[in-house]
Amino acid sequence: MFVQEVAIDIKTEANKDELVEEFNLLISHFRSNGQTQGKIESQFIDHNRIVCFPFSHEKNSLSSEFHNFYVNRQIEKLENICGSKLQVRTVGKTFESYQGACKCEKPELYILITNYITIQSPITCGTCNQALPLYKLPKYSDHGYRPFLSWESNYQSCDTLQMNCEVGEHWALNQMQESNSQLSKQGLEICKKVEELTGVPTYYYLFNYRKIIGDELTKPCPKCGKQWNLKEPLHGFYDFKCDACKLVSTVTSNS
Ligand SMILES: [Zn+2]
Ligand SMILES: [Zn+2]
Repeated sequence: MFVQEVAIDIKTEANKDELVEEFNLLISHFRSNGQTQGKIESQFIDHNRIVCFPFSHEKNSLSSEFHNFYVNRQIEKLENICGSKLQVRTVGKTFESYQGACKCEKPELYILITNYITIQSPITCGTCNQALPLYKLPKYSDHGYRPFLSWESNYQSCDTLQMNCEVGEHWALNQMQESNSQLSKQGLEICKKVEELTGVPTYYYLFNYRKIIGDELTKPCPKCGKQWNLKEPLHGFYDFKCDACKLVSTVTSNS
């Protein structure tokens, strides 16, 4: 990922602590518009300058062409109070080999997937297997993508519970691997709407840590009961795919 520096100089007598709050709000608008990733931006104030370092999927993720209504409004407010322009520059990237996000012209499918540790966009392109920054999708609701972040943090909370193995592990695991759980329903609803908005079939990744007896690959889709194993795993990861139920999954790692 790229690391961006977002900063503004305070050239007025405005209250600095209030400005820090306003700056914070701008960063949360960037986040819910999919322009930044993760929640740790290391924001600080140094004399008359507020600075932070968010992650982003693309070098130009913070370019004005991707701003939404709330981002534009908050930038305007901040610039007026500070008497100066917001500054954005790319300061580096996380890995030398990082190539950026999905650039497919016509993706064959999208997958809604995350885990307890990642800060990548929860939408992955099923063609190139790279993350798709949310701002590349049509606006989802209220100028942005908050429902994605809601599902994402719910999923990550469940995944954290099942990874820690001490509190609510069984409940959390069921939320993640049952196709009719509240968590899966929330995710499938997002997939359905993404497909409506983009025309790209959008699948929900169903976690699998079941104890399986017999040949798992012959087991049917848990929702419709039809065969769903793939001849070749997709991207060497997904073993199952049901085009009717819009689900993908993997063989269990609980063996
Ligand atoms: Zn792609
Ligand atoms: Zn099915």
